[in-house]
Amino acid sequence: MKAAVFNGKHLRIEEIEMPLITETQVLVKVKAVGICGTDIAIYKGHLPTPTPLILGHEFSGEIVKIGSKIDSSWLNKRVTAEINTNIDFDCFYCQRAMYTQCISRKSLGIDINGALAEYISLDSYLLHEIPDKISFEEATFIEPLAAAYQTFVMMPVDKDDKIIAIFGLGKLGLLLVQVALLKGLEVIVIDGSDKKLNLATKWGAQHSINRLKCTEIPAEIKNITKNIGADIVVDTSGNPDSLKNIVKSCRTRGKIHIKSTHGLDVPMNLTDIVVREITLYSSRCGPFELAIQGLESGKIQVKDLISNIYKLSEIEEAFNSYEKNRDQIKSIIKF
Ligand SMILES: [Zn+2]
Repeated sequence: MKAAVFNGKHLRIEEIEMPLITETQVLVKVKAVGICGTDIAIYKGHLPTPTPLILGHEFSGEIVKIGSKIDSSWLNKRVTAEINTNIDFDCFYCQRAMYTQCISRKSLGIDINGALAEYISLDSYLLHEIPDKISFEEATFIEPLAAAYQTFVMMPVDKDDKIIAIFGLGKLGLLLVQVALLKGLEVIVIDGSDKKLNLATKWGAQHSINRLKCTEIPAEIKNITKNIGADIVVDTSGNPDSLKNIVKSCRTRGKIHIKSTHGLDVPMNLTDIVVREITLYSSRCGPFELAIQGLESGKIQVKDLISNIYKLSEIEEAFNSYEKNRDQIKSIIKF
């Protein structure tokens, strides 16, 4: 089969052996894979991984083969899958149902081979069926949308939390805008792309700031928030320079939530956080069930987030597309 293999420097299409399945696994014919900021961070060398590695963890496909212990009803089902595999169901975290933090976990496309290939073998406990209403391309958003929902699983919204500032409108930031609006929050968006800012505003975000045209972002946020600051500030930007602004934009006893995985060490002065008793949160993989419901109900829109569709053979072009265009949101590889 063909696969896009990262050798530590380049992505190359290689002919490799079809994956084998165990009695508790399924073989999935991959239909669509989204390219994520984490994939880009690996590709740029910011996030070290074992190599050679097949990248790709936002994907959908069809089950074409099942292990002997798998219920035959799964055969031919349209599915997506969670990314944390090799779960031991026994460690400290698994005993407390925190499976995404299992100490033996390996993440698809990051620690072990992922989905940028014609086929992938998957442990059955990772699988989620895709409802008919959701296309294979739209289903590549289920994993990042689950991560957007996880923001509010990890961080409670209290009665005084009315205004959220979201730094960075990549795919995750734009999904988070929609989830925050569904939560009833007033949303401020900050990004360098007018196109993305306009999209967030179209969905209902009340305030937008183009960071390239605004010299004092915290002052602008103070202006919007009656000189208080945002109750919740989320960073999805992956821009180390934004961190100073993020702290200054947050109100005293507010909440900062870090979502970006750019893999870089960043300097951060913590004193302002301590003095003003700001709480730091973070979150990653989330509840697929909520994400699927959000898409199926039509409450979450993702069609506008698909910037380009490429073939597997155009993989390096797809990865490089993020460098060239500020308006780029998400590229999808379609099989
Ligand atoms: Zn475990």
